[in-house]
Amino acid sequence: MTSADYEAIGFMSGLEVHQQLDTRSKLFCRCPAGRRVTRVDAEVLRHMRPTLSELGEYDGTALMEFKTKKEIVYLLERGTVCTYEMDDTPPFEIDDEAVRIAIEMSELCNLNLVSELHVMRKQYLDGSIPTGFQRTAMVGLSGAIPFQVPELGVNRELSIRQLSLEEDSCREVSDIGHRITFRTDRLGMPLTEMVTEPELLTPLELQAGGRLLAHLARTTGKVRRGPGAGRQDVNVSVSGGRRVEIKGVHHHRRLPLLVHTEAFRQLNLLRVKAELERRGVTPDALKDPPKGFPWDTSALVMDAEAAVADTSFPPIRKAISRGETVCAVLLPGFAGLLSHPTQPGFTFAHEISDRVRVIACPVHVPFLAHSEIGRGGLISRHWKVLERAFGAGPGDAMVVVWAPSEDAATAAREIVIRAREALEGVPAETRQAHPNGTNGFERILPGPDRMYPDTDTPPLPIPDRTVTEVRAQLGEPPWTRQARYEELGLDARMARSLAVAPWADLFDKVAPHAGEPARRLAGSLEKRIPFHARRRGASSPRTVGEAPDADRLSPVVRALEGGEIRQEALVWALDDLLADPDRAVAEVLDNYRPRQDDEAELEAAVPEIAQMARTLQTASADGPVRWAMGMIMRRFFGRVDPASVRERLRSHLTVGEPLGNGDRSGGSERTGEGDE
Ligand SMILES: [Zn+2]
Repeated sequence: MTSADYEAIGFMSGLEVHQQLDTRSKLFCRCPAGRRVTRVDAEVLRHMRPTLSELGEYDGTALMEFKTKKEIVYLLERGTVCTYEMDDTPPFEIDDEAVRIAIEMSELCNLNLVSELHVMRKQYLDGSIPTGFQRTAMVGLSGAIPFQVPELGVNRELSIRQLSLEEDSCREVSDIGHRITFRTDRLGMPLTEMVTEPELLTPLELQAGGRLLAHLARTTGKVRRGPGAGRQDVNVSVSGGRRVEIKGVHHHRRLPLLVHTEAFRQLNLLRVKAELERRGVTPDALKDPPKGFPWDTSALVMDAEAAVADTSFPPIRKAISRGETVCAVLLPGFAGLLSHPTQPGFTFAHEISDRVRVIACPVHVPFLAHSEIGRGGLISRHWKVLERAFGAGPGDAMVVVWAPSEDAATAAREIVIRAREALEGVPAETRQAHPNGTNGFERILPGPDRMYPDTDTPPLPIPDRTVTEVRAQLGEPPWTRQARYEELGLDARMARSLAVAPWADLFDKVAPHAGEPARRLAGSLEKRIPFHARRRGASSPRTVGEAPDADRLSPVVRALEGGEIRQEALVWALDDLLADPDRAVAEVLDNYRPRQDDEAELEAAVPEIAQMARTLQTASADGPVRWAMGMIMRRFFGRVDPASVRERLRSHLTVGEPLGNGDRSGGSERTGEGDE
């Protein structure tokens, strides 16, 4: 799809980037941050219940969490949690180190700094924070950063709405039936949340935005790296749809497919809506069942056990033998729509089963069947019996669900609610990213009233001195670095890649001359450092690892600039330094300085190697020349001019085709792939 196609469907997306900060302590207590533990010293069991807000209303998310009837278990380890996280003591003073990093990131985003930090409570009712709220403080707001993505034709600014400093939540250990278990080591660690305006207009723009914000955060050098340290939530909508928030994307690489799929899910839900409207289905046809067991109180639900008692479908047989309830839900006017596709491999029926899974928490899978499943599930005789019992017609659809009676009642109600929401098109939900690019229901989108002031923390003025100190040591943002590298003669792609590379500081320290030395050095670092990192088995090839420090690398670059070694020798020398961190740089350089007898030796070697090459059986016509080129360049360690060698080989091997490149860095087996 082109950007015009996304424009036609009204695609809009925005990002919330959560980034763990590399501080010693947690944000509001003095427990250590960033320690991951497995030991359990104590367990705490909690239940959540909703309370009325000051406005006399229940929040939709709060009600949903209450309906799940979850037991929440916290596993505590003495060294990483105290009474603060468990809501038994008030917060300590906010961590100064975290505040400084958040100010630095706000400055890099060109945000307006607040003069005082006001800690707010943000409702968090899924159990991942024992207090039921997260403490959060806005640090900066309303700014913009340069957003240049030449390959997408993007050259504008990206608006940043705000940056907040907040506490991380617990790590989920398991979520089975009505019991969810968390660890508290991560709880309370400082995070920044950067929020963009919904200005990212294609999936690839969104990815570029995510990459830019991740790089910006790293510019501080004070953020955590590794799995889970940076997490992105993304908001997506299309025309006529509604803002849907997808949570927990761990890498910006996964964003494009995810939001593309979500855009099409929304379009499909809008098609279902239009079809229901065409059929004249109204919300009145799908009223909430009155109090009590819905099969006793609603004409849309009935106890189906008798009707399907002789089924041979194992999940229902087992449910009946466990004493569970089997009930059927009528969806008037929904015929054919349960099997309407929504995402690759998913249909509208999955929208329903997802709700049931998350809210009614059935333990056994599968837990429902519907009248459009086709093979598997109930046979048509059973659907006919149910249809007659409901007095339903061929335009209607039915869902059968089985679970312990309380859960079956919850499930039946949710099925009716979700079917009714089909009339709105896209329900307001937060959804969860799946690894294959699809997404699933997570919870009802929280209402706008989920923030309220924290009464435990006084406003904290940000001293001018702190701001001055932060500004004095502000890191160089990626776009400034990129411009500087372009001035050194790097092309836009190389400059941008270097600007965010972990070895950019090394490059700066070595300070190559503009032009060929700068280009050679940038290219060599990008090819060879990831290659050696991979060979060492490093988890990320984008780590500097055992890269030579500037003191060892500078003499090589100086020799190149002074014409003492050939330009192509730089990458070879870098290889030697990377391969053997103890080797003396002078010794490495000696190998590449041209020698007096090189010319005579080359004169003798060319015919000899050419003779061997002639006997080679290779698939391609220029194979022998490439092989010979490699042999000679290896023997002479880059001390001779490849063009001249190629010329001489060509005269010996009478092959007219274009000849291979003898530059060692050009060999595909040794070329490192770029990685973000
Ligand atoms: Zn603590």
